[in-house]
Amino acid sequence: MTTYVYPFESGDGKNKMLLGGKGANLAEMTQIGLNVPPGFTITTEACLAYLEHDVLPDGVMDEVRAAMRELEQKTGKGFGSATNPLLVSVRSGSAMSMPGMMDTILNLGLNPATLDGLIHQTDNPRFGYDAWRRFVQLYGKIALGVPDELFDEAMSTLKAKVGAAQDVDLTAPQLKDLAQTYIGIVEQHTGHPFPTDPMQQLEMAIAAVFRSWMGKRAVDYRRQFKITPEMANGTAVNVCTMVFGNMGNDSATGVGFTRNPATGENLIFGEYLTNAQGEDVVAGIRTPKPIAEMQQEMPRLHAELMELRNKLEAHYKEVQDFEFTIEKGRLYALQTRNGKMNARAMVVTSVEMASEGVITREQALLRVNPALLEQLMVPTLAPGANAVALATGLPASPGAASGRVVFDADTAEARGKLGEKIILVREETKPEDIHGFFAAQGILTARGGKTSHAAVVARGMGKPCVSGCAAIQIDVHARKARVGDAEFVEGDVITIDGSTGKVYAGRIPTVEAEFFDELQTLLEWADEAATLKVRANADTPNDAARARRFGAVGIGLCRTERMFNDPGRLPVVQEMILADTPEERQDALDRLLPFQREDFKGIFRAMDGLPVTVRLLDPPIHEFLPTASQLEFEIDHLRNLKRAVRGMNELPETLRMLDPELHHAYVDSLDHLNANLVQYEQQHRFDALIARREAMLRKVHALHEVNPMLGHRGVRLGLTNPEIYTMQIRALFEAAAGSLREGVTVNAEIMVPQVCTKEELVRVKAIFDTELDRVAALLGERPHVRFGTMIEVVRACVRAGSLARIAEFFSFGTNDLTQATFSFSREDAENKFLPFYQESKILRENPFEVLDVKGVGRLMQMAVQWGREVRPDLKVGICGEQGGQPDSVRFCHAIGLSYVSCSAPRVPIARLAAAQAKLREKEYSTSVFD
Ligand code: ADP
Ligand code: MG
Ligand code: MG
Repeated sequence: MTTYVYPFESGDGKNKMLLGGKGANLAEMTQIGLNVPPGFTITTEACLAYLEHDVLPDGVMDEVRAAMRELEQKTGKGFGSATNPLLVSVRSGSAMSMPGMMDTILNLGLNPATLDGLIHQTDNPRFGYDAWRRFVQLYGKIALGVPDELFDEAMSTLKAKVGAAQDVDLTAPQLKDLAQTYIGIVEQHTGHPFPTDPMQQLEMAIAAVFRSWMGKRAVDYRRQFKITPEMANGTAVNVCTMVFGNMGNDSATGVGFTRNPATGENLIFGEYLTNAQGEDVVAGIRTPKPIAEMQQEMPRLHAELMELRNKLEAHYKEVQDFEFTIEKGRLYALQTRNGKMNARAMVVTSVEMASEGVITREQALLRVNPALLEQLMVPTLAPGANAVALATGLPASPGAASGRVVFDADTAEARGKLGEKIILVREETKPEDIHGFFAAQGILTARGGKTSHAAVVARGMGKPCVSGCAAIQIDVHARKARVGDAEFVEGDVITIDGSTGKVYAGRIPTVEAEFFDELQTLLEWADEAATLKVRANADTPNDAARARRFGAVGIGLCRTERMFNDPGRLPVVQEMILADTPEERQDALDRLLPFQREDFKGIFRAMDGLPVTVRLLDPPIHEFLPTASQLEFEIDHLRNLKRAVRGMNELPETLRMLDPELHHAYVDSLDHLNANLVQYEQQHRFDALIARREAMLRKVHALHEVNPMLGHRGVRLGLTNPEIYTMQIRALFEAAAGSLREGVTVNAEIMVPQVCTKEELVRVKAIFDTELDRVAALLGERPHVRFGTMIEVVRACVRAGSLARIAEFFSFGTNDLTQATFSFSREDAENKFLPFYQESKILRENPFEVLDVKGVGRLMQMAVQWGREVRPDLKVGICGEQGGQPDSVRFCHAIGLSYVSCSAPRVPIARLAAAQAKLREKEYSTSVFD
């Protein structure tokens, strides 16, 4: 026989699936000796059986009757007794907390006879009628389906009639009448007399609470918060002896947090109401008082409440959110659960509870969800800013920012230099927009997914980005945009929130992220616990300095192409690409070298002593040229202008014929303009501009590839055009030598992108060795720089053993490796089919955000193993975006990586995740590959 009913004394406090969270905790609180009113729990199994068959399963009511007899014994009261009546509450509660979504009935067991007894016994008619009218309303509403408005209307009418401001102002006779009116409402609505048999009341109430599991509110809530049947299945019912907070001024009811859930401060936080029943506090009928006031009003009970608070925390080792009621000077605990807190409070309470010895440091580290820290690393909209969003796109890079709308990167740069705050608004962004990113506070695009160019670059820089906001229509030429119903011209102010994807009109106040002391402490503990190191992806000295502030212990990926895209250098890069002769090309490279050298020196200085991994040029070279359509557009315009200038020659004569006066008025300025343009023409300035663009266009056509990401890029470009890598390697050695001489400790690594065979590495290594010798001879300084490879193509994983003969380290480029493993183009996947794949559960996660352990991860694990068989001290890291994602970090720890590298704002997340990975490593098994 299944047991459906468990008294609080014997229920298993750990079994929330069976007893619900509320029932399990009522049992646990009872068993550790807290003052809980006696009661019992009817299991979720009974609920599921009831919902399936529409009747309570056999035996449930027998068990309930037996449990009620026990309650009568424990309380010395009688259920239905006219002299000493036992009243109970019938409370819902599932495994997951769903506040206010299901129903609870109070004061059950009242009828005209027990009411008389209650009044007699308490000598308090007002209290009796108050309890009675509450019960009739709750029971009518929940068990019998009478609309709540009918009761509320009757209450308002009465208050107006007798001139009462609040319900506490109503007298006993008035409440008695009100209850009578309520009974009339119920009987009229149901066509039946109000049930007076307490056991019948109880049975119907239990069934009604079970049904509330499938009520619309509850179903919607579960859908919204993705509560699956594995997390919570059915509600339990808790039958609990009533205690009364409305028995006079020595009675009260309240709710409390053992610590402040907004700040984490170690101070009880909550509210109470004297002479009130439970739901009054939540319902906001009267304004409750802060718990601190209780110290004056009822000092002894305040002290008892503090003791309750301490016992709860000592037992649960977690901040508790609890309900209490005081009946005639006696304190009862009615409910407790783990408190929901914001990120800051989680961190503060973790550190403080560990310092107080409530929990261990390990528990403190395990308690905080690393992903929560993201909120703390970026500016957020000020709480209470209550603005209504104009449109919503994808939350592509977290943080909030306000600024003036600007439609192209050049304008962003120009206005940014004047000190203006800018939001760069583009259809989508391209590598040549990079200077606009530097100038902007945030980026908003109409197209592109969470891994579009805009999203990836913004995340790398730690700037807020909303991408794929389809509600935006941009007219670049008219310099205006529509966002939803609003129109913006360039210079108007908007606010974006990259954590939610929302776009707002005007400036909305934001609060800056701050690295507060407790966060610092928690992360220091994390570093002590972790073995996996955390580096950052950083491309500039500024990024590097920021990464260090976030606690990165090195740079795992420094992308040199970001340096090429700087607007001061891009023309030189283009000259290099367009060069007709090797001499011209070398000349351009010679001018680029000092730039690169200074960049590297800046980064070495910022990271003094910490490892810096520099990746040689990776993207296809055409990315540094304008697009063909842009060039065609410009060529067209220049040709038109040239033709127009010819026509201008004849303009004065034509004008004179047409209108001599007009001619007279304009003759001076016309002549002036004419002279200038004709001069341009004679000096062939137009031709030069056109020729340069035509040359570029030819080059763009020549460089055209069907599949550039699989084409001429990375080491393939580096080996076919060795002078580029030569320049970069030389710049790095010179920077290292120079820095060493300036007293900076250099710990540099060079890595080669896109490698698929050992021979590629051998060839680049030859350049490396030659340049090292050369710099040593020239500068008298022989910097120690390690040589390694990205692992980002499938063949590289398979040939890891062979690559390790040349490479001193590996770094998994899991963005490309994921594309290669799935044969998905990331951009197309995210824009076209990946959302569908996730919704229909063909793939559980987006593999570009969460490392695909079974496929990509398996390749990584094999590569690590094979690589280390050849070179036992092989250092291995990961520098793809997944490197900052907690589950991925955990996997990286499990397969023995030396470090993860991620964007600076994710460094704290990864540090905590690395600690948790170490602390929970025993739970991890190789079955992750099954
Ligand atoms: P919820 O899940 O919505 O919090 P509860 O079952 O906790 O619902 O009950 C609603 C209100 O009634 C709460 O304020 C609670 O404290 C109060 N309450 C529930 N049972 C009792 C009881 N036996 N005695 C006094 N108050 C009670
Ligand atoms: Mg409650
Ligand atoms: Mg790559």
